[in-house]
Amino acid sequence: MADKNNGQRGYRPRTNMVRGGLSRSEFQETCEGLFATSGYVYANAEEAEAAFKGENTKFIYSRFSNPTVNMFEKRMALIEGMESCRATASGMAAVFASLACMVRAGDRVVASRALFGSCLYVITDILPRFGVEVTLVDGTDLGQWEKALAGGVRAAFLETPSNPGLEVIDLPAVADLVHKAGGRLVVDNVFASPALQKPHALGADVVVYSATKHIDGQGRVLGGAILGDPEYMDEHLRMFLRHTGPSLSPFNAWVLLKGLETLELRVRSMCDSAGRIAAWLDGRGDLVRVVYPGLASHPQHELAKRQMSGFGTVVGLEVPGGKAGAFRFLNALELADISNNLGDAKTLVTHPATTTHQRIAEEDRNHLGITQGYVRLSVGLEDPDDLLEDIDRALKAARG
Ligand SMILES: *Cc1c(COP(=O)(O)O)cnc(C)c1O
Repeated sequence: MADKNNGQRGYRPRTNMVRGGLSRSEFQETCEGLFATSGYVYANAEEAEAAFKGENTKFIYSRFSNPTVNMFEKRMALIEGMESCRATASGMAAVFASLACMVRAGDRVVASRALFGSCLYVITDILPRFGVEVTLVDGTDLGQWEKALAGGVRAAFLETPSNPGLEVIDLPAVADLVHKAGGRLVVDNVFASPALQKPHALGADVVVYSATKHIDGQGRVLGGAILGDPEYMDEHLRMFLRHTGPSLSPFNAWVLLKGLETLELRVRSMCDSAGRIAAWLDGRGDLVRVVYPGLASHPQHELAKRQMSGFGTVVGLEVPGGKAGAFRFLNALELADISNNLGDAKTLVTHPATTTHQRIAEEDRNHLGITQGYVRLSVGLEDPDDLLEDIDRALKAARG
């Protein structure tokens, strides 16, 4: 296959989003090819033997690699400015594999407490079953990281901005502490997306994505990605994925490649609308609180300005009246859909306390700001004026 325009010239991220990793077949198709195949054939037995010995670069089996999935992985690596990427079937497969591939019984993992519910389950329920010791910290408190890391660490894990509380964690400072403790820092960059934050440039060793969110961004497929340095890939991840099999399907990889082409445009536009909606909500004075890293009132606003190139597509708001008030607001929205997804072209609204974070104890939820009145708004690509009118109408209705 010809590898024209595959990013080797050091193109900028926007160019790589459209062309990175493109590898055309003998037919010279414009669009990335969809190779819907589980396996590959060999010209002769000798070629098969050589392939299994790693003596040629032939594709062997789509659990290990596939041409369409490979294009997605190369494109992601170029966009992120990292050496390699492995795709997975979902974001959770990426989160689990990124940690499980490198920890063993007796190791320690330190993570921030403000995590997506399933990430919290993997870290606090699954890893300890295999003898891994886990410590949770308040991610914004560097003193807590320092104390928790004092005993040494294999891996540290965090989300910034966090889901759904939008807490922003100082990546260079935490990376420095984790490295001093002898571990690797794994960052879930779902909320910022590759368009707004580059954790590796800020010190992270491993970056994970749910590609289901902004990378697809159109509600079609599940997918995930893990990016890391060659040593991590060679020593830990490659064999773990090859033999446990959380592979991304070629069709989903193809959809995600098309999603990446417009990622920058979509995320910038959604981010502009989110900023406008957050400022407008903040100015109303009839909400308990409005949470958005772009607001001067956000506790880590200055930090967000330093480490992000945009404040994100998600806005948090607490409506008066607790759960009943929040439900009245959700039910009164005519345009925004009630859904637990985010990063979509369609504006989606979630009540985390009763859905994505319902498993977490009430006390812990309140500590994370996930109160009964808290609503997560993932701002889409609709005309922001229509969204403002919809939200205004629903807030008035929610007053009861
Ligand atoms: C959605 C999400 C995940 C999980 O991704 P899936 O593709 O749904 O498996 C992980 N982390 C964060 C922050 C998420 O929002």
